[in-house]
Amino acid sequence: MIPYGRQTISQSDIDSVLEVLRSDWLTQGPAVPRFEQALSERVGAGHAVAVNSATSALHIACLALGIGEGKMVWTSPNSFVASANCALYCGASVDFVDIHPKTLCMDAEALAVKLSLYREKGLALPSVVIPVHFGGQSCDMRAIHALAQEFQFRVIEDASHALGALYENEPVGNCRFSDLCIFSFHPVKIITTGEGGMLTTQNPMLARRLQRLRSHGITREPAEMDRPPDGPWCYEQIELGLNYRMTDIQAALGISQLLELDNFLARRREIAVIYEAEFKERIGMQTVPGFTESARHLFPVRVSPSRRRRIFDALRDAGLGVNVHYIPIYWHSHYRAKGFDVGLCRNAEAYYQEAISLPMYPGLTDSEIARVVDTVKDCVGHCLEVV
Ligand SMILES: *Cc1c(COP(=O)(O)O)cnc(C)c1O
Repeated sequence: MIPYGRQTISQSDIDSVLEVLRSDWLTQGPAVPRFEQALSERVGAGHAVAVNSATSALHIACLALGIGEGKMVWTSPNSFVASANCALYCGASVDFVDIHPKTLCMDAEALAVKLSLYREKGLALPSVVIPVHFGGQSCDMRAIHALAQEFQFRVIEDASHALGALYENEPVGNCRFSDLCIFSFHPVKIITTGEGGMLTTQNPMLARRLQRLRSHGITREPAEMDRPPDGPWCYEQIELGLNYRMTDIQAALGISQLLELDNFLARRREIAVIYEAEFKERIGMQTVPGFTESARHLFPVRVSPSRRRRIFDALRDAGLGVNVHYIPIYWHSHYRAKGFDVGLCRNAEAYYQEAISLPMYPGLTDSEIARVVDTVKDCVGHCLEVV
């Protein structure tokens, strides 16, 4: 089976991890700040805070921006559930903004319309909006930022798919148009640490707060304490945080993986060029607008909803580990129980019914790519005839 995504691990990745295992530090030690430094330099952010997953990153991002009971968070329905769950962890409410039918990312126009409508009707406006850079391409951050200023909300970019992507020729993660940006290092993502995540920001106060929140809310800085420390052993818990620390084992892998980022991106983009040329005018694909260069985490294609299941099964039977990204978040029963219903975001729902994610990862060989291309053309052609 050729999976839809998988990690690429080199001998030097393995050596880096072994080196940590022989060192004094296993949990957060010297490798974590080195990974943070390397990633923040790479994306042009002033600060980076490593955590044990992107889910954790989203949770403490919301906490750091004051999300709690009575607050509202808006995100994209075309995402992994973690993009919305973070609001619920904080006791806040969540709502969804539809995607653009072609880019499949949060539609800034739909956001503008919903904001105006909710303001007019006196309905709950968001304190935080979480655009998701679906598939690895950036949302229209300039437009979203303009709305953030007009409607006074903060912005967390969910860039789990988009490490190495560009927006207006600058790296996603530099937070030019957001308060915070988060990345995932799950094995199917652009680089991996096993499990892992990172937050980037230009705001030193936010970064400091995030460092505390990932480690129980504890500080060792006398200046942050309520009263002078009793001695050098002292630490003080000044708020309720969590244990979301990344280990040095993970960070060492992350540093090593980051050295390969440009190679990974080049191969992903090469594969996308081949797929696009082969499927052009036959199969629907994600439109990449001129303002962004995609990191190509996913390669979703779109087929007619009445044939999707048959094509999906045929591709699986032919040995392609295709998948579907994503079931609209609010279709899950946990969200339906909160009152969400079918019809809320028509574009996300329509796209979901057409979606199939093809294999896309740097380790795909030329012959595997050729096999994917042939199999997809075959299955789509064949399944069309059957109907
Ligand atoms: C993978 C993913 C997450 C969660 O990442 P983890 O590191 O697995 O917690 C969040 N949002 C999106 C869009 C993702 O794809």
